[in-house]
Amino acid sequence: MQSYSLTHLTDAVLLRDLSAIAARDRVMTATLLAHIAEVDARRLYVPAGHPSMHAFCVEHLRYSDDAAFRRIRAARAARQFPKLFTALADGQVNLAAVSLIAPHLTYENVDALIEASTHKRKIEVEQFLAERFPSSDALPSAVAKIRVISPKPSDPPAAALPLLASAEPGATSFPSAAGRLSGEVRNEMLVLGRVANSEVHAEPRFHFQFVVPKSTHDKLCQAQALLSHSMPADDLARVFDRALDALISQLEVRRLGVSTRELRRERPHEEGTPSRYIPAAIRRAVWGRDEGRCTFVSITGGRCRCRRFIELDHVVPFARGGKATVENLRLRCSAHNQYEAERVFGVDFMKRKRQEAWIAATTRDRDADNSP
Ligand SMILES: [Zn+2]
Repeated sequence: MQSYSLTHLTDAVLLRDLSAIAARDRVMTATLLAHIAEVDARRLYVPAGHPSMHAFCVEHLRYSDDAAFRRIRAARAARQFPKLFTALADGQVNLAAVSLIAPHLTYENVDALIEASTHKRKIEVEQFLAERFPSSDALPSAVAKIRVISPKPSDPPAAALPLLASAEPGATSFPSAAGRLSGEVRNEMLVLGRVANSEVHAEPRFHFQFVVPKSTHDKLCQAQALLSHSMPADDLARVFDRALDALISQLEVRRLGVSTRELRRERPHEEGTPSRYIPAAIRRAVWGRDEGRCTFVSITGGRCRCRRFIELDHVVPFARGGKATVENLRLRCSAHNQYEAERVFGVDFMKRKRQEAWIAATTRDRDADNSP
């Protein structure tokens, strides 16, 4: 068994071994990224039961969301610009730096950006990128779970606090303590909200931060005005929650012909039709049976967890006489729907079909733009 106790080593041996392990770790990181890039390019995560490379890295490789995001971004960049693999393996640049420069890389600037991030810390890379690629949207989008600590009786009561915490350029973490947000509002374009003071919440709570254009801010103000009779003007969390309820209902009606709220009340009773049209009652029944989740099961028995980009898929394809019945329909995420279609009809056939659909959609849009 591997022993992790190193107390018997001399200082010199310990330092020598650590340096050697770090060097091997850099080579291993580059090799790992090469593997991620190749699995990604071959889309092997799909038959393994995952809708995306990110889901594969989190659910199968057990990386955290952040670690998966960083590795995938770096891996894709390194596949396009292979000298990044060497720079990583040699310790010239670290994984965080590659992930940061990745969105800015071009064939013209790749050498310069590797050079500029050589032996630099993350904050230094962020600084030179901010100078070289200035953006008005310097505030990173992020969602953070708020750590809630029960207040002590001696704690002074907290006043209503602004929803937006301080937004130093390049800041990536949220100042939070005892469930409260500290800091000051720096952006007058944002509407102030508040968080409850020392209240302890049974449910986990999250802090959202993102930059919006003025048009979105105007919509928020309009929604707040329309809701002013039913909730405090500064309760942004409830406005956000109501907006999401409305959006979800609208999207469910578009996709299923009915919202899940209605779905819970109704029982499906319609069955089958020979046309491509799928009646709302059947869509409802399939959605309910499959619990709104992709039904793809990998060869090792793992079911895809995806609930996004969900589509109705014919078990026996419509083109081969498959009917729109509850039994012949199932939910699939778009990745697994496409995978199944490619498996049945062939990759080239589906590629041609997608190109035809794209051309048809482009022609429709152009005609719509040109119509009086
Ligand atoms: Zn899926």
